[in-house]
Amino acid sequence: MEERKSSNFIENEINADIADEVYADQRVHTRFPPEPNGYLHIGHAKSICLNFGLGEKYHGKTNLRFDDTNPTKEEAEYVESIKEDVRWLGFEWEGEAHFASDYFEQMYTYAQQLIREGKAYVDDLSSEEIKAYRGDFNTPGKESPWRNRSVEENLRLFAEMRDGKYGDGEKVLRAKIDMAAPNIIMRDPVMYRVLHAHHHRTGDRWCIYPLYDYAHPLSDAIENITHSICTLEFEDHRPLYNWFLESWPAKEHPRQIEFARLNVTTMITSKRKLRRLVEAGIVSGWDDPRMPTISGIRRRGYTPEALRDFCERIGVAKNDSTVDIGLLEFCVREDLKTKAPRLMTVLEPLKVVLTNYPADRQELLPVENNPDDPQAGVREVPFGRELYIERADFMEEPVKKFFRLAPGKEVRLKNAYIIRCDEVVKDASGEIVELRCSYDPDSKSGTPGSQRKVKGVLHWVNAATAVPTEARLYEYLFSPEDTADDRAPEEKVNEASLRVLAALAEPAILEYPVGTRFQFMRQGYFVIDTDTTAGHPVVNRIVGLRDTWAKIRAQKA
Ligand code: ATP
Ligand code: MG
Repeated sequence: MEERKSSNFIENEINADIADEVYADQRVHTRFPPEPNGYLHIGHAKSICLNFGLGEKYHGKTNLRFDDTNPTKEEAEYVESIKEDVRWLGFEWEGEAHFASDYFEQMYTYAQQLIREGKAYVDDLSSEEIKAYRGDFNTPGKESPWRNRSVEENLRLFAEMRDGKYGDGEKVLRAKIDMAAPNIIMRDPVMYRVLHAHHHRTGDRWCIYPLYDYAHPLSDAIENITHSICTLEFEDHRPLYNWFLESWPAKEHPRQIEFARLNVTTMITSKRKLRRLVEAGIVSGWDDPRMPTISGIRRRGYTPEALRDFCERIGVAKNDSTVDIGLLEFCVREDLKTKAPRLMTVLEPLKVVLTNYPADRQELLPVENNPDDPQAGVREVPFGRELYIERADFMEEPVKKFFRLAPGKEVRLKNAYIIRCDEVVKDASGEIVELRCSYDPDSKSGTPGSQRKVKGVLHWVNAATAVPTEARLYEYLFSPEDTADDRAPEEKVNEASLRVLAALAEPAILEYPVGTRFQFMRQGYFVIDTDTTAGHPVVNRIVGLRDTWAKIRAQKA
């Protein structure tokens, strides 16, 4: 999984088609065909990168097609979010976005042709009867008593279905294949059902709707797709895909190639289950930064570059597997390492007063914006008598190997001075509210006195100029063991997956717009969230600094 292969099995298939001149002019035309019934998730990101990536690699084309054969409500919102997600990942589809519903008329006409060829018939059996007649793995199916209607009768009944003469479920159109086929999918599958429902694009024009197995190959064929890439669960459907296109008049037919779905530890990849999290109010919406949706991942602060790198690294598999979330986080850190400016932000502040520092003095200390990127420049960070450090960086009774601040001990404040803790101030309840310290005026960073070494180096924020900042820290919504099982999400969700802290940032944070990503020194990567209002930043922790993936990799090696 680690090494990058220049070509995977799908590319091998495409290369073979090019060598055999299966498609004119070596053309490659893929498509990404989401059903607009929810927001896209990390698995769809994989499919997008794969389909659009192939389009780019072979100088071909990639369509965006909404598989809207199921009339449902609220689809417009999903259509827009899907377009936004594809573009955010850095891809642009060929021409206009397509909709399977645009082809309803062509699909209808082609179904009439199949009837004329004796390859489709109208069936009066109920859906329960159809199921019962289908047989199972060990038992061949039974033919419907309506299977041998004349072409004329079938054409008439099919037209009447379309004209609204029948109620929901009263009649269906079925492919006439083989009720004894070993592949159960080939036992006269249903092509059309009667459904008196309003459609978001076609309105009330239709009361019959094609099923996915029929609509999908037809849509591919109409759009002149060459390689129709889908997930493994459709492998058994491939013979049917080809069967439906046998009479298709064009010379070139699309072909279906299957690959394994992407699963990621701690992430649920099912639109239906994700919708449930939204509807149950377990998360704040589809774009909650804990969600494995592309919009959640975006708001969390992950970059499209990191996501594309991740999809590239995991490659294309023929067997289902689960990728560790640590790899995705590794890709995010790799991408942000050089890009993200560093800031000092104290997440859980503890006040420090430097008793020997003049009250009316404030210094501006030069600090590099990103030690990994010399181009990023230097900023000036204010320093004064009253400061904040991280509460966790002080221990009144330090444990062994605690090299941070403790009574009588010294630490260096990053890019500033060495300080010593002289006194601990507590409130009536015994809680520590302030540390009274003294600083060593000769120890300033960047001067000869900075040579004096102490063990701990702490980040800090100057009290007078500190910017109150809401920091949102996330844990996984589900533990890796909990992702796969079928318990209701509310039963297994991690209640502690969001922690909100009243942090204090250095004033430079106010100069950056929403969406800016930082490394907060010693605390991880953060992004300015859309909930930010003027002067009141809200930040999400994108990912911590520790690379868990390196550890996982070492264990596996
Ligand atoms: P869901 O169950 O979440 O709705 P789906 O497969 O029904 O998933 P579609 O909107 O039909 O969702 O999928 C659009 C495309 O994305 C399809 O080609 C599908 O195969 C692909 N896809 C969906 N989930 C994954 C996944 N986990 N890994 C890779 N590709 C996926
Ligand atoms: Mg689906």
